[in-house]
Amino acid sequence: MTSTTPQNAPFGSILTDVMAITWYRKGQWETSELKAVGPIEMHPAAHVLHYGSECFEGFKAYKWADGSVHLFRMDRHIERLRQSARSLLLPEPDANQVAEMVRAVVDRSRSAVPDAPGALYLRPLLFGTMPNIGAATTPTDEACLVVLASPVWDYFSGGGRPLSVYLEEHATRCASHLGMVKTGGNYAAALGPTLAARRDKNADQVLFCPGGEVQEAGAANFLAIKEGHILTRGLDSTFLHGVTRDSLLRMAPELGYRVEERNFTVDELIEWVKTGEAALSGTAAVLSGVGTLLRGDKRYQVGDGEIGANTKRLRTALTSIQHGTAPDRHGWLTRV
Ligand SMILES: *Cc1c(COP(=O)(O)O)cnc(C)c1O
Repeated sequence: MTSTTPQNAPFGSILTDVMAITWYRKGQWETSELKAVGPIEMHPAAHVLHYGSECFEGFKAYKWADGSVHLFRMDRHIERLRQSARSLLLPEPDANQVAEMVRAVVDRSRSAVPDAPGALYLRPLLFGTMPNIGAATTPTDEACLVVLASPVWDYFSGGGRPLSVYLEEHATRCASHLGMVKTGGNYAAALGPTLAARRDKNADQVLFCPGGEVQEAGAANFLAIKEGHILTRGLDSTFLHGVTRDSLLRMAPELGYRVEERNFTVDELIEWVKTGEAALSGTAAVLSGVGTLLRGDKRYQVGDGEIGANTKRLRTALTSIQHGTAPDRHGWLTRV
């Protein structure tokens, strides 16, 4: 029998015991409160349960060797939450209020922040609570915002084992105008193709490539990497604008990489990986190397099939800033 100790608990399966919560009622956000994590009372006619009015964020607080705790690019994540809310016509949260809620949760969860390479994962969540099952084409006028925290450990320490990725050229991850919105419905839409690829192709992840153009994985962005060169799709509405992607692209020139942001095809990617590298980027994945691409019934080895040297180098450059062992030249960290 195996027991689940925290260090091998699946990502997100453990929460700290405190959450911050606030409600939007009568046209305004109420004062937020800290509460014990537990059920929220909600009407079964709540807008989110019928019409999917929901969005969320995910980012991390890191404990440094001196015991201090630092949030990575919180402002950027809060801005993305506000943008998701606008796209879904949910009441837009106030940036300062969300930041206060996050700080309060981190402060009260301080003893639960794992040492490096672990972190405290923060999960702000916004959903529509207006009780009206006739509101299919009406935005919610009531909402709830919650901030949860989850201690997470490093599942891919040192970059982990190389991933095998199925190239999905038919099914789309989500509606093409909502790819940049971090909303639960997009995950529900991607679940079928993801499970099919796991079952039928033995793939770890799916890389969505609708119409033969490389887009992103189910929950991570995609980067093609070579010595001195990074290629990734340019920002458009079809995929999530990852903060990890943005951070890597901003660090890349300092590390001697030329960044190319443009559309590229699966055929071009197959050519690229004969000698190049490929990786998935995201708060949870950090930068995870791809060892194999699967297309139909064909397998393509990425480089030598191991995690590439440039992938490792970029990953370490990013995690060194997050863990405070390299200087934060971009002002990305907020001490709590
Ligand atoms: C959250 C997410 C990412 C990664 O975004 P980060 O800001 O880097 O964590 C990428 N793709 C999808 C679909 C996501 O939901």
